[in-house]
Amino acid sequence: MKKRKFLLMLTFLLGTILICFLTLGLFLLAGGSFAQTPAPPAEEKTEPEQPKGPPRTVIIDAGHGGEDGGAVGVTGLVEKDLNLDLAKRLCALLEADGVRVIMTRTEDVLLYDRGADYEGRKKVLDLAARQAIGDANPDAIFVSLHANTFPEQIYHGLQVWYSPNSEKSAALAEAVRVEVVSTLQPDNHRQCKPGGSNIFLLHKLQIPAVLVECGFLSNPAECSDLEDPAYRDRLAHALCKGICAYYEDDVQ
Ligand SMILES: [Zn+2]
Repeated sequence: MKKRKFLLMLTFLLGTILICFLTLGLFLLAGGSFAQTPAPPAEEKTEPEQPKGPPRTVIIDAGHGGEDGGAVGVTGLVEKDLNLDLAKRLCALLEADGVRVIMTRTEDVLLYDRGADYEGRKKVLDLAARQAIGDANPDAIFVSLHANTFPEQIYHGLQVWYSPNSEKSAALAEAVRVEVVSTLQPDNHRQCKPGGSNIFLLHKLQIPAVLVECGFLSNPAECSDLEDPAYRDRLAHALCKGICAYYEDDVQ
């Protein structure tokens, strides 16, 4: 009996040891390790590179919005939607370049005060609100995005208007024009023009300010280009490069 008991105990012991080895084997097979797991490397923070010179702030103004659609293209493209889409693309590119961006609108709205007596004055109040954003940021530059229309369909090409109130406005307009012509519209011979009192924001703003008519919605070919997301990206890139070129020249 003693021998049987001993054999039973031995079998139990051997069985336990075998199970231990099997568990260990499975643990190692599954990639386990007894070495202390090293801590994951600290996540590197990649802040956008800050350009040289003073901080750069660009106010991007998507023209029109809400009940004011602006021009309507031959394809049915509505100017307010194009302006906002281009504004968002340009915003993303500038921010990636380390530029601070203020958008006058990020939604399909006009900027009049809903608590004010706005009946018949929505557009006036909207433009005043956009101007107030410019006035509140004296170190910024102001880039208003619009699209053109004309009764005759032949006219096409981007046109930049600038504020006559600041010498820097003309330089900003020219930097944008040069970039668009060299990368996107080599046949565009439109020169930058000073805005008159009929262009409210350019007339009122004291900071460097331009209004970019991004193309003619009345021209079928240009309107379908402006419908194309790839073209909008190229246009936004050209605007971004033009703005950055202005800043580089301004710092020197
Ligand atoms: Zn417009």
